[in-house]
Amino acid sequence: MTETNGKIALVTGGSRGIGRSIAERLAKEGFYVVINYVSNESAAKDVLSAIENAGGKGQIAPFDVSDFDATQKAVEDIVEELGGLHILINNAGITHDTLMLRMKEEDWTNVISVNLNGVFNCTKAVTRIMIKQRYGRIINLTSVVGEMGNSGQTNYAASKAGIIGFTKAAAREMASRSITVNAVSPGFIETDITMALTDEIRKSYIEKIPLGRFGSPKDITGVVAFLTSDEASYITGEVVRVNGGIYT
Ligand code: NAP
Repeated sequence: MTETNGKIALVTGGSRGIGRSIAERLAKEGFYVVINYVSNESAAKDVLSAIENAGGKGQIAPFDVSDFDATQKAVEDIVEELGGLHILINNAGITHDTLMLRMKEEDWTNVISVNLNGVFNCTKAVTRIMIKQRYGRIINLTSVVGEMGNSGQTNYAASKAGIIGFTKAAAREMASRSITVNAVSPGFIETDITMALTDEIRKSYIEKIPLGRFGSPKDITGVVAFLTSDEASYITGEVVRVNGGIYT
């Protein structure tokens, strides 16, 4: 049994990929982990089982982060049931890649709604309880693509660049209440998102990565765990790159 630290962490998009890895790691650190997902209940239950089998604790929480009202209600319910919320990992994200010439308005709107509005919706939802607690850690998953751009990803790059501005502004707003807000910026990581790339595109990316490989979700979780720790209490408004050296 893992010794709990009495703190509650909400991981959006915790059912798969990087979010799953973060959820499992935070549970190992002793957090009670709320695993959010939008549609894939069996994957979320699988993460919860893995956490419980490793001696940790948590629960699943389905809601669509792009839906403002549903998100406020879901977070209210979590806080009422569990009595607090200390860590928010804004990880849920999607891609709808295509060149701008072919990009439909809905490709743009959907990606901005989930990736950027989702970060606002979740952060807004936790602000009241974190201010009351005079404690909180918010970690937003941005992307190397938001920093350097990428052909076929204008929607995704805009959403991820927006997260960086949001992180810096929110960090300034919330610092006086001992709430830190940081971003982690992964490069290309082996998950369902990058599995969708053709072998040719994967090869062309790998050639550009100085460390010569895609990252694994576990390459991200250590940084996230550190940012939730007491040792990181003087870090806020920061963007930590974990990208194999592709953009420095
Ligand atoms: P992934 O494997 O595709 O998983 C996406 C997760 O987000 C799933 O848990 C999914 O839930 C959830 N999700 C999607 N839309 C949602 C919504 N509207 N509401 C709530 N949850 C939603 O993605 P990933 O590759 O791990 O990426 C995680 C984060 O890291 C994203 O923000 C992504 O942009 C960022 N990132 C990834 C990479 C990479 O190379 N993989 C690089 C840089 C940044 P369901 O299971 O229910 O669908």
